[in-house]
Amino acid sequence: MSKQQNDKDTSAHSEHEGETGPAHFIRNRIRQDMAAGHLEQVITRFPPEPNGYLHLGHAKSIVLNFAMANEFGGYTNLRFDDTNPIKEEQRYIDAIRVDVRWLGYTWKNECYASDYFETLYQYALYLIEHELAYIDSQDAEAIRVQRGTLTEPGQNSPFRDRPASESLDLFKRMRAGEFEDGKHVLRARIDMAAPNINLRDPVLYRIRHQHHARTGDDWCIYPNYDFAHGQSDAIEHITHSLCTLEFEDHRPLYDWLIEHLPVPSQPQQIEFSRLNLDFTVLSKRKLAQLVDEGHVAGWDDPRMPTLAGIRRRGYTPESIRAFCTEIGVTKSESIIPFGVLENALRNNLNPIAPRRLAVLKPLKIVLTNFPEGETEWLELPNHPQHPDQGTRKVPITRELYIEQDDFMLEAPRKFFRLKPEGEVRLRGAFIIRCDEVIQDDDGNVLELHCSLDPESRSGQPGSERKVKGTIHWVSAEHAVDAEVRLYDRLFSVPNPSADKDKDFTEFLNPESLVTLPNAKLEPMLAELNSGELVQFERTGYFTPDIDSTSEHRVFNRAVTLRDGWAKIEKQFS
Ligand code: ATP
Ligand code: MG
Repeated sequence: MSKQQNDKDTSAHSEHEGETGPAHFIRNRIRQDMAAGHLEQVITRFPPEPNGYLHLGHAKSIVLNFAMANEFGGYTNLRFDDTNPIKEEQRYIDAIRVDVRWLGYTWKNECYASDYFETLYQYALYLIEHELAYIDSQDAEAIRVQRGTLTEPGQNSPFRDRPASESLDLFKRMRAGEFEDGKHVLRARIDMAAPNINLRDPVLYRIRHQHHARTGDDWCIYPNYDFAHGQSDAIEHITHSLCTLEFEDHRPLYDWLIEHLPVPSQPQQIEFSRLNLDFTVLSKRKLAQLVDEGHVAGWDDPRMPTLAGIRRRGYTPESIRAFCTEIGVTKSESIIPFGVLENALRNNLNPIAPRRLAVLKPLKIVLTNFPEGETEWLELPNHPQHPDQGTRKVPITRELYIEQDDFMLEAPRKFFRLKPEGEVRLRGAFIIRCDEVIQDDDGNVLELHCSLDPESRSGQPGSERKVKGTIHWVSAEHAVDAEVRLYDRLFSVPNPSADKDKDFTEFLNPESLVTLPNAKLEPMLAELNSGELVQFERTGYFTPDIDSTSEHRVFNRAVTLRDGWAKIEKQFS
């Protein structure tokens, strides 16, 4: 093998190296399995149901599945769990593909549970032939009532002892379309007295005269999730089937099926706790409700915890992977503060995002001793801590914009920004003094007249004179106009679903989106493309929104510079 090929090979296995993170019980389990010598490689899968967009919870699962396969020299399949023809749509399949790729992962095989419908049907016939399944001709309600409860055993169906030949005949006729929906179901024959309700003769197949996006009208019976899932894993030779804790109680059923069916491999299911984030919801059903009821602008609204939403908002794949690695993998339920996610983005962007000047809420100032009509080009560093990022030219002129919040008419003593007769340094330029405040009849501040101190130019000999505050600014003549969208927590309470008597949408944060229509940006920002991130000095990390055009620029605030919610979250906890 040539050196080049060799290099390529290793890199395929060490995707996102250095992101392995702390030890966790799943890694330890897999390590033991590998050490025991009965496994050659680790094969995992990410199995979304294509009935909505992926959210941050899915990211946790994706990162875990790909990380384990990469680490132990195997691969990961993307499997669409498309057994429910009613809710699934092609557009969700397309979006899921985009999102997994965006996160930085390449799946080995793209699989569909529906590709296994024929095999699963054969497995069902096998169960019937071996008297391990039977056709029940009761309706759903009767079956539900006989199921029993956690404290009471279930009762046998009157059809439980139906001869295999009769069940076989009925099942084949179900498949042939002879019966209407609900007329019969296929049930496993396990144990109606089992303490685990999932083992009380669970339903495996239902009649559903329903068109399927991929198999068309080939089928009018569909396997349910519990029957399709484990067998799909076995067909794909998945070694470790990683899933969330709610499937722990289903594992005995999966194991029973694997044990009794002639499947080609024996996957091992390991459960971990799902990701919960405060001040948001992570459930496709609830996210779909937000979209359908118009509380947000769509699945990719930048306030949504969907991957499409946070990508649009400005989150990077690196920050999401770092977040998923940092929160770890355990079996205990917990709620992660949203600030942990935000910090992952700050930590990712702080060393790399170029610094830019942008005024969000402009207040005009006139530098009375700056020559009219003149432009001076200042050379400012792109990143003060990283000189290797070079410099850029920023124009300064007689008329500038500063932030409204950086001026106070009646300022407290500790206010170190601009106030009447006060001084402040303009970032990268010089010190100015506020000589005159122009107000309208109602006392609103219209503009400030200031004078600059030529002795105080940044970077020049003799410029050491210090003032307490430094503020950002933009040349009025050169400013690029933009709309800026500030996003905040989507909900105003940590757990919007806690109160079962109330709809979670009652707790939406009315200030989750604040639009500033008159922002003024330094000229370079006109060239920024969506997906490129910069720091607006002193205000946060921003990226152009996908709505942005050269006629109407729109910027999203991905995250603030500091965590303004830390205190509030403490109050609630
Ligand atoms: P939701 O509850 O949002 O509807 P789901 O579990 O029904 O999600 P699936 O498409 O079935 O969505 O999920 C695909 C995979 O992602 C599953 O293996 C599931 O366990 C995992 N997953 C879903 N939500 C989370 C979460 N919050 N944390 C970790 N993994 C998750
Ligand atoms: Mg699910």
